[in-house]
Amino acid sequence: MGDCTDKMDVIVVGAGLAGLSTAYFLADAGLDVLVVERGDFPGSKNVTGGRIYLNPVRDLFPDLWEQAPLERHVTRERLTMMARESATTVELQSERFNRQPYHSYTILRAKFDRWFADRVAEKGAFLIPKNKVDDLVFEGGRVAGIVADGDEIHADVVVAADGILSLMAEKAGLREKQQPRHFAVSMKEVIELPRQTIEDRFNLEGDQGLAQLFFGELTQGMMGGGFLYTNLESISLGLVVGVESLMERDPLQEVHPLMEAFKERPEIRVLLEGGEVVEYSAHVITEGGIHAMPKLFSDGMLVVGDAAGLGLNMLMTIRGMEYALASGAMAAQAIQRAKEKGDFSASTLAYYEELLKDSFVLKDMHTFRHALNILENPRLFNLYPQVVCDLFEKLMWIDSGPKEGLFSIVFGEVRSKLLSFSVLRDVLSFCKM
Ligand SMILES: Cc1cc2nc3c(=O)[nH]c(=O)nc-3n(C[C@H](O)[C@H](O)[C@H](O)COP(=O)(O)OP(=O)(O)OC[C@H]3O[C@@H](n4cnc5c(N)ncnc54)[C@H](O)[C@@H]3O)c2cc1C
Repeated sequence: MGDCTDKMDVIVVGAGLAGLSTAYFLADAGLDVLVVERGDFPGSKNVTGGRIYLNPVRDLFPDLWEQAPLERHVTRERLTMMARESATTVELQSERFNRQPYHSYTILRAKFDRWFADRVAEKGAFLIPKNKVDDLVFEGGRVAGIVADGDEIHADVVVAADGILSLMAEKAGLREKQQPRHFAVSMKEVIELPRQTIEDRFNLEGDQGLAQLFFGELTQGMMGGGFLYTNLESISLGLVVGVESLMERDPLQEVHPLMEAFKERPEIRVLLEGGEVVEYSAHVITEGGIHAMPKLFSDGMLVVGDAAGLGLNMLMTIRGMEYALASGAMAAQAIQRAKEKGDFSASTLAYYEELLKDSFVLKDMHTFRHALNILENPRLFNLYPQVVCDLFEKLMWIDSGPKEGLFSIVFGEVRSKLLSFSVLRDVLSFCKM
C-alpha cells in the first residue's frame, strides 16, 4: 500500500469533505496524517445534490473559499409541487442572495474534492487513493489502526469518514443495526449544456444559479423528492426515494423508472433539451436525522460527517456538506487536545461531542428531530401537491359559462379535500418543524 511509516498520529478513512476537513486541520497543526480513499481520486465516489451553504463554514476555512472551484452562487430558489398533470412552483429571486459574500453555491464534488485534497496535501497530509480499508486493528480493546490491502498501519487515532454506510463505525461497534426507514436512495445525473443555454433557459445573469426542489407525483406518493441545480456548464438532476417506501411496494419499486418518468415530465423535459448526460450516480442518503446517529467516539476512534449520521432533510433543503466540514474541524480540535494530553481514550475524545453539541451541527439535528415523522406522511407526497395544483388550476380556468367566485372555489376545494382530522393532525405536526 505505498511506503508510509508504520505508525501515524492519525489515520483518516475516506477522502470526502469530512475526512479531508479533519486532515486539513491536523496536518496544519503538524500531526502525521494519512488519508486512505478507496476511489480513484478524492471526489470520484462522492455524490451530492448539491449546493453548499457557506455561512456556517466560512470562518472555519478563511483561506479556502476565495479560490475554491465552486459552480454558481444561488440567487433563485424554486419549490415545485407536482400533481398528476400539473405542477405549481413557488419561486424566490433574492438580491440578498446576490450580494457578496454569497450565501450558497452549487457544487460538483468530483471537481471540488479533488481540489480540496490538493490543499490538504499541501498542508502535509499523506493521501492514498485507490485503497479500501477493510478492517480495524484493535489493541487491548481500543482501536489502534487499520488494515488495508493486507497491511496493518497503526495510529493513535482512526477517524471514520467513510460515508453513510460506515463500515468503520460498524467494525468499532459504534453503530446499531440500521433501519431502512432511516435511509433513502438517490439517482443523479449531471447533464452538460452550454453555459449560455443555461443562463437563457433559467433566466440567470453571469455566475448566478438556481436551486429547485420537487415533491409530489414524481415519487408516486412515496417519501422523497427531486432536485435540480444549475452548475456553470451543466445541470445536476436527481431523485431521492425512501428505502422503506420502496420496500413496501409490491412488486418492489425500483428508482430508475421513476427517474426516467421524472425526466419525461413536460416541466423537466424542456429544461434538459439538447443536454448530454456526462455523469450518472446512485447513492444512499440519510433521512434518520438525530435518530440514526451512531456513537461518535470510542477509545482511539472518532466518527465524522455522513458516517456519523450528520445529515438532514429539512424539507426545504438537504444538508450534509457543512456538517461534514464542521465535524471534521471539530474532530481535529479534539484530537489535537488528546495529543497534547497524550491520552487518546474515549473520555478525552468525548470532547468532540461537546464541541458538536455547542455548534450548529447538533443544534440543527435537535431542532429538526421531527423531520422524519413528517416526511413519512404520504399525504405530503400525494394529497397536498394535488390539492394545491387543482386549486390553482380551478382559479385560473375560464369555462364557457359564468365564472364561480374565487372565495367559493377556494372554500369548495378546502371543504371537499382538506376538512378532516388527519389534515388537522398534519398541520399540528408541521408546527414542530
Ligand atoms: C443525492 C444526494 C443529494 C445531496 N444533496 C445535498 C445538498 O444539496 N447539500 C448538502 O449539504 N448535502 C447534500 N447531500 C449530503 C452530502 O452529500 C453528504 O452529507 C456529504 O457528502 C457527506 O460527506 P462525507 O465526507 O461525510 O461522506 P462522503 O462524501 O460519502 O465520503 C466518504 C468517502 O469515504 C470513502 N470510503 C468509504 N469506505 C471506504 C473504505 N472502506 N476505505 C477507504 N475509503 C472509503 C468513499 O469513497 C468516499 O470518498 C446529498 C447527498 C446525496 C446522496
